[in-house]
Amino acid sequence: MDFRLTDEQLEFQAHCRKFATEVIRPAADKYDREQSVPWDVIRAARAWNLHGVEHLMKMGSDPGGLFGVIYAEELHYGCAGIALAISASSLAAAGIAASGTPEQVGKWIPECFGEGDEIKMGAYAVTEAGAGSDVKSLRTTAKVDGDEWVINGTKVFISNGGIADVNVVVATVDADLGHRGQASFIVPKGTPGLSQGKKEDKIGIRASQTTEVVLEDVRIPMENLLGGKEKLDRKLERARSGQSGGKSNALATFEITRPMVGASALGIAQAAYEWTLSYLEGQADEHGPMLEQQHVQQVLADVATEIEAARLLVWRAAWMGRNGVPMTGGQGSMSKLKAGDVTMWATTKLMDLVGEYAQTTDCPLEKFFRDAKIYQLFEGTAQVQRLVISRMQRQDHQAKFQESAEVLQQAPGTAPGDPLESDKEPAAA
Ligand SMILES: Cc1cc2nc3c(=O)[nH]c(=O)nc-3n(C[C@H](O)[C@H](O)[C@H](O)COP(=O)(O)OP(=O)(O)OC[C@H]3O[C@@H](n4cnc5c(N)ncnc54)[C@H](O)[C@@H]3O)c2cc1C
Repeated sequence: MDFRLTDEQLEFQAHCRKFATEVIRPAADKYDREQSVPWDVIRAARAWNLHGVEHLMKMGSDPGGLFGVIYAEELHYGCAGIALAISASSLAAAGIAASGTPEQVGKWIPECFGEGDEIKMGAYAVTEAGAGSDVKSLRTTAKVDGDEWVINGTKVFISNGGIADVNVVVATVDADLGHRGQASFIVPKGTPGLSQGKKEDKIGIRASQTTEVVLEDVRIPMENLLGGKEKLDRKLERARSGQSGGKSNALATFEITRPMVGASALGIAQAAYEWTLSYLEGQADEHGPMLEQQHVQQVLADVATEIEAARLLVWRAAWMGRNGVPMTGGQGSMSKLKAGDVTMWATTKLMDLVGEYAQTTDCPLEKFFRDAKIYQLFEGTAQVQRLVISRMQRQDHQAKFQESAEVLQQAPGTAPGDPLESDKEPAAA
C-alpha cells in the first residue's frame, strides 16, 4: 500500500490550491456578504479547466480515484460557498448519469455546464417540506397526459434553484409504492409553470444559491423521463407484484458520491486549522508564546489528527469507488459522516483556542464555523448517515457470516448447515 500522491495528483492538487488562494479566496467575503451568484469566479474556474464536461472527464481519469476529492477539498479550502456554486451542477449530472439512458446522458449532462464560454447550471431537486430524510414521502406528482408528463409540486432547499438550466426533478408516479414509485425527470429552464420560490437567507455557504423550486402544471415531453417509460413500467410492475427491487442503485451511488462531500468539509477544516496556526504564531500571553503552551499544543494536535483520520477515510472511499470495490460496509457514508463531524468540531475547538477575537466577524474563523454546519445536514444528515452505516454494517456482517457458513459446509469433515459447530471443529481436510 502506497499512501503517497502520484506526481500527477500532486500537480493537480497544486493547481487547485492556486485557484483557491488566488481566485476564490479574494472573492469570498464579497459573495458571502452579498449572497449572490459568483458568475465571474465560475467563469474563471472554466478558464482554469476546473469546470465543465472536460473537467468532469478529467476527474474520472485518475486510476487512484483521488482527483475528485482533491478538487473538492482544495476548492472548499478557498471558500465553501463559492466552491459549491462552481460544483453543484455535478449533483444534477450524477442524477442523470445514475438514471438516464446513454442518449439522455449525452444530451443533458453537457447542458448542466455549458460549452465553450457559455456557463450553464444544473439542479437536483429532491427535497420537499416533510420529505427530506424521509424521501419515500415525496408529494410532487408526475402524471401522463396524452404524450406529455405533467408535474406538480414544490421542492425546497434546492442548490442552484432558480438559476439552473437543467432541473432534475424527482417525483412520484405511484405514491402507494413509496420510493419505488418515484422517477426522475428533466425540466429545462423556461418551461411554463416552472418558477423560483423563496430564496433562503443562509448562515453559511452563502455564495451558493438555495431556493424553493415551484412546479405548477409543468408539461414536459415523454422523453424527459430519465431511463424511459418502458424501464419505469417494468420497475412499477415489479414493485406492485411484491418482487424485490434487488440491490439499491441509489444507495450504491450515494456511497460513491459521499466522499466528495466529506472532502468538501475537510477543505474548511484544513483552512481553519492553517489560519489558526498562522495566527497563533504571532500571539503571546503572560505565559509566553501561544504555540509553546501545552494546552494549545493539545488542541492543535487533536485537530490535526482528526483531520488526517477523516481524510484517510475519504481517500479510501474514493479509491474504492473508482476501483469498483463495493462499499457494502457504508465506507462512503462513513467518510462523509466523519469529515462533517470533524469539521464542525474542529472549527468550534479552534474558535475556543483563539478566544474573544474568534467571536467577531473580523476573524476568518467565524466564516469557517458558519460554513461547516451544512456538512452535518445535506446529502444525508449525520444522524441518517449513522443509520445507513449501521444497516449496511449489519447486512455486510450477515453476508460474511453466510459466506463463511457456505465455505464451511462445503469443506470435508464439517457438519452441514451448522456454521457455529463447524467453527468449533476446524475442517479436517
Ligand atoms: C444549503 C442546503 C442546500 C441543499 N441542497 C439540496 C439540493 O440541491 N437538492 C435537494 O434535493 N435537497 C437539498 N437540500 C436539502 C437537504 O438534503 C435536506 O435538508 C436534508 O436531506 C435533511 O432533510 P430535512 O431538512 O427535511 O430534515 P429532516 O429529514 O426533517 O430531519 C430533521 C432532523 O431529524 C433528524 N432525523 C430524521 N430522521 C431521523 C431518523 N430516522 N433517526 C434519527 N434522526 C433523524 C435529522 O438528522 C435532522 O437532524 C439542501 C439543504 C440545505 C440546507
